[in-house]
Amino acid sequence: MQKNIAVIRGDGIGPEIVGEALKVLDKIFDLYGHNFTYTDVDMGGCAIDKWGDPLPAEMLDKCVNSDSVLLGAVGGPKWNDVAGNMRPEKGLLRLRAGMGVYSNNRPAKIWKQLASASPLKESIVDKGIDFIIVRELIGGIYFGEHMTETVDGEKVAFDGLKYSEKEIERIGRIGFETAMKRNKKLCSVEKSNVLDSSRLWKSVMHSLSSEYPEVKLTDMLVDNCAMQIVKDPSQFDVIVTENMFGDILSDEASMITGSIGMIPSSSLGATKCGLYEPIHGSAPDIAGKDMANPIGTILSAAMMLRFSFDMADEADAIENAVSAVLDAGYRTGDILSAEDKEHCTLVGCREMGRLITENIKKG
Ligand code: NAD
Repeated sequence: MQKNIAVIRGDGIGPEIVGEALKVLDKIFDLYGHNFTYTDVDMGGCAIDKWGDPLPAEMLDKCVNSDSVLLGAVGGPKWNDVAGNMRPEKGLLRLRAGMGVYSNNRPAKIWKQLASASPLKESIVDKGIDFIIVRELIGGIYFGEHMTETVDGEKVAFDGLKYSEKEIERIGRIGFETAMKRNKKLCSVEKSNVLDSSRLWKSVMHSLSSEYPEVKLTDMLVDNCAMQIVKDPSQFDVIVTENMFGDILSDEASMITGSIGMIPSSSLGATKCGLYEPIHGSAPDIAGKDMANPIGTILSAAMMLRFSFDMADEADAIENAVSAVLDAGYRTGDILSAEDKEHCTLVGCREMGRLITENIKKG
């Protein structure tokens, strides 16, 4: 099968982790006889340096015209003082909006080999962690009106949070449909005791519920949800929530599974052209040191094969290779727990990528 993948290496550890994911895709290409072509796209800090813009229009066009986009991460301290609308992360927000990917799906699943890397007590981890956060991605406060002005001699900043019924309904459906494919439990997370947008959120979710009678819908306030994720994550199957709440909860959820470096994500809209990226940032503290964990990016590439290219066998082959390498005791620093130090082998980003590539077998 011929596929054109737009590749955004980005900043910090981005080029290192994407490089390893491309090796994995090349191996799939060889084993299964596909033809993947890669189109390089500049986005983030590197695009600011080169083009004076975190996502020039022609770069967005390359993404929109591709079969899917693989992204590392963008941003870093070098661009901290850049004006708000030209910051590296703005490139990412423009990319998501330009591609119309309104649903971000982040699995929070503990790999059995990494149970000891979870900061939670064994008694909690043993109950199982396997849920998905469905996060609305192109609305809410991140896309609202932003303003800083001086009032009575002091600076006042404003960020607007707005959701329409249609925006809530389309992400709500993804939540219900995801739950239908899993254990049919959907938890809608909001802050309806304070926010109007959350009250609308809750009422739309309950209207939708009648169309999915098999799904058990529950409501939870976001502050309680943050607490429940660490207290008893086994209670969750699918969580659906708005943009900012999803951003925060999914980082928390990733941490309880061991490391933010392990978690992939997919973002999809009305078409099969998706955006696939690990959930972490550009990790400037370890950039260029061959210390980054490439597994989140490699698993994002697997999600791309599964959800955008209908290549389930190929995606399984990648996930099985990751599992085999973890079984063999190889760990990057972020997933090497104190208990594992005796019997596991510490490897860098390149070696982890090489081991996973080597372990890919055609099923
Ligand atoms: P971060 O996710 O980059 O790093 C948080 C911590 O996790 C750091 O200690 C880092 O070393 C570690 N970490 C992250 N990914 C890792 C990996 N693959 N392997 C091993 N360790 C890993 O978050 P941050 O430090 O808050 O942000 C750094 C920059 O990234 C900022 O400029 C931020 O805006 C940007 N950012 C970008 C994205 C994105 O591109 N999607 C997402 C979040 C943050």
